[in-house]
Amino acid sequence: MRLSRYFLPVLKETPADAQIASHRFMLRAGMIRQQAAGIYSWLPLGFKVLKRIEQIVHEEQQRAGHIPVLMPTIQPADLWQESGRYNAYGPEMLRVRDRHDRDMLFGPTNEEMITDIFRGSVSSYKDLPLTLYHIQWKFRDEMRPRFGVMRGREFYMKDGYNFDLDEAAAHHAYNRHLVSYLRTYERMGLQAIPMKAEGGPIGGDYTHEFLVLADTGESGVFYDARIEDIRLGSREIDYDSVDQCRGVLDEFTELYARTDDTHDAADFEDAVPEEHRREARGIEVGQIFYFGTKYSEPMGATVQGPDGKPVPVHMGSHGIGVSRLVGAIIEASRDDKGIIWPEGVTPFHCGIVNLKQGDAEADAACESLYAGLTALGLEPLYDDRNERAGGKFATMDLIGLPWRITVGPRGLKNGVVELTSRRTGESEEMPPEQALERIG
Ligand code: ATP
Ligand code: MG
Ligand code: MG
Ligand code: MG
Repeated sequence: MRLSRYFLPVLKETPADAQIASHRFMLRAGMIRQQAAGIYSWLPLGFKVLKRIEQIVHEEQQRAGHIPVLMPTIQPADLWQESGRYNAYGPEMLRVRDRHDRDMLFGPTNEEMITDIFRGSVSSYKDLPLTLYHIQWKFRDEMRPRFGVMRGREFYMKDGYNFDLDEAAAHHAYNRHLVSYLRTYERMGLQAIPMKAEGGPIGGDYTHEFLVLADTGESGVFYDARIEDIRLGSREIDYDSVDQCRGVLDEFTELYARTDDTHDAADFEDAVPEEHRREARGIEVGQIFYFGTKYSEPMGATVQGPDGKPVPVHMGSHGIGVSRLVGAIIEASRDDKGIIWPEGVTPFHCGIVNLKQGDAEADAACESLYAGLTALGLEPLYDDRNERAGGKFATMDLIGLPWRITVGPRGLKNGVVELTSRRTGESEEMPPEQALERIG
């Protein structure tokens, strides 16, 4: 992409109403535009990051054997009356009425609808286990929408639902989700720690939240510092293996880690030696639940078991805050100049800064780098505008691409360009081919 033809409405001023860094940077970098409280348009740069995160979520869900579907944003109220949540959900639910006076709602989550799909099509235990998921916009009329996309009212969420014959099988589904979530977050360059949490309106008391540590997080967290050293890394996991998934869950949940909802000071002191005790803030980027037959029983989602008798299926639901992650990644990876994108989610891989636009040699060198990066399967963003170098550097620092190649007539006389890492800030001069090799 050439910046002269792109739509990147960068703001010079720091927006006054944005309280946290990620919100400020997303506005300044022209990633989003607020349309109403907690409701945003995603401009090209933000949309690209959102799609990259979504893609990772899809890949990791399908690696774990989960099947993508797409349910609508608008749901009939009847389903929620069946489960008993229509009244219980309260003012966070946006209720609407159609022209025939039918009660509808903008879905805040999809347990009822997926249970309806299941009961309409599955009748035998032989069709289990089954996990369906979708990535779709949700609406929750939050009391205090704030921090940009972090707590929006309309937000993008992956929600998945497992259907299993019994509790043991549903626990495996739970453990499998935990593993796949860990891999998902790690691919985004994030450490998200599973913590014992509370069920809230989804229900169920077997649940973990995934938290990214950040001072601006809305949750208080208490944990054993040694948990920060555990990574899933590149180990191969067989998602069908009950023992392997259980093993990962045990490893990641053995040490004390709880949100303020479930924290217990006496337990904390018993479980964690003083030097390892940490009290901090965190951003909830996902949550997994096992709730058994909470929806299948009232809604009649049963299958014929091996003995011919009908049994309600055991279910769980599993959510990832796809749009919240854009903000959470920025909170975790930034400096005072702007964003520092992890490679896994960066909107472009490399920026090219032409110090003297219109200089035949500099222009040609930039074009050749552009072609070289593209040939490597990478996406460059070429700042080909007629602007001062300082402004170009500031924009690149703000939008946080992992690499920047700076091209100018002076360097080219010696056959070199400058390669800069956004993360370390280190620059090195080298021939253009070598820069390509480094990045590729
Ligand atoms: P929170 O405690 O932040 O209100 P939640 O526990 O109500 O979140 P869940 O029902 O667990 O949310 O939804 C799954 C995920 O969706 C959350 O872990 C979070 O990452 C994301 N999410 C929830 N509410 C919002 C929101 N208002 N804006 C953006 N993302 C959200
Ligand atoms: Mg909530
Ligand atoms: Mg929560
Ligand atoms: Mg939650």
